[in-house]
Amino acid sequence: MDLKGKTAVVTGGARGIGKAVALKLAGLGANVVICDIPGSQDAPETVAELEKLGVKAAFLPGDVRNLTEMEELMKTVAADFGSVDILINNAGITRDNLLMRMDEKSWDDVLDINLKGAWCCTKAVCRQMFKQRSGRIVNMSSVVGVMGNVGQINYASSKAGLIGMTKSVAKEFAARGITCNAVAPGFIQSDMTDKLPDEVKQEYLSGIPLKKFGTVDDIANAVAFLVSDMASYITGQVLQVDGGLLM
Ligand code: NAD
Repeated sequence: MDLKGKTAVVTGGARGIGKAVALKLAGLGANVVICDIPGSQDAPETVAELEKLGVKAAFLPGDVRNLTEMEELMKTVAADFGSVDILINNAGITRDNLLMRMDEKSWDDVLDINLKGAWCCTKAVCRQMFKQRSGRIVNMSSVVGVMGNVGQINYASSKAGLIGMTKSVAKEFAARGITCNAVAPGFIQSDMTDKLPDEVKQEYLSGIPLKKFGTVDDIANAVAFLVSDMASYITGQVLQVDGGLLM
């Protein structure tokens, strides 16, 4: 896999899965722009790590919910980097609660960032990708979007929505040489899973056939494949990276 000469935009790329994806794509030669919230404390360190890999990198602050900001951001990337070849819609949040107790803001915030955010970025990038007659878009969904989850009605709805968006974009953009796929991570080792009590971890693990949590690199590898030439005939698909949790 060789991404030399390509430019990737990774939303929510300052930390976590987004950072791992950014580093993976940079390791394969892509120039990388991370878009994350203004004032992100993680972004400068991530950009420094990307630059150490010998590629051009930048942090462009912005809120994925804001279409105007995303249009400006994509214009800046095209002007400064020459093209926008890869978009990873990764920015996402959780605001978990049972439906009975969930307030309207928790619903709106999660749907706005996780689902509308991907719509804004895809809409903002499409003119540039149409002009290039090529492009790769990957949406970060979740197995929760396929199977639902107690206490996550907002999150599950947003991640299920991303799957519908992925298939619609795949159909609309295919004739322009652009693919769009989704990655659906299962339980990924993170600050969140590290903090779980041992018995809860064991319960989760017992439902995973491969008997381990995934790593951010497992997700980054799947994304790298989908944006590479090796996946040029794959579009509209949801790639579950979950150790067999859901099948
Ligand atoms: P994280 O919280 O570590 O990182 C999310 C990043 O998104 C942060 O840097 C944050 O600042 C950024 N962000 C939040 N709101 C934003 C906005 N409005 N505009 C721009 N950037 C914004 O989360 P993570 O665990 O790395 O998850 C990344 C993605 O993967 C999310 O979409 C998440 O739903 C999905 N996912 C994660 C897991 C998991 O186990 N960690 C499992 C399935 C899916």
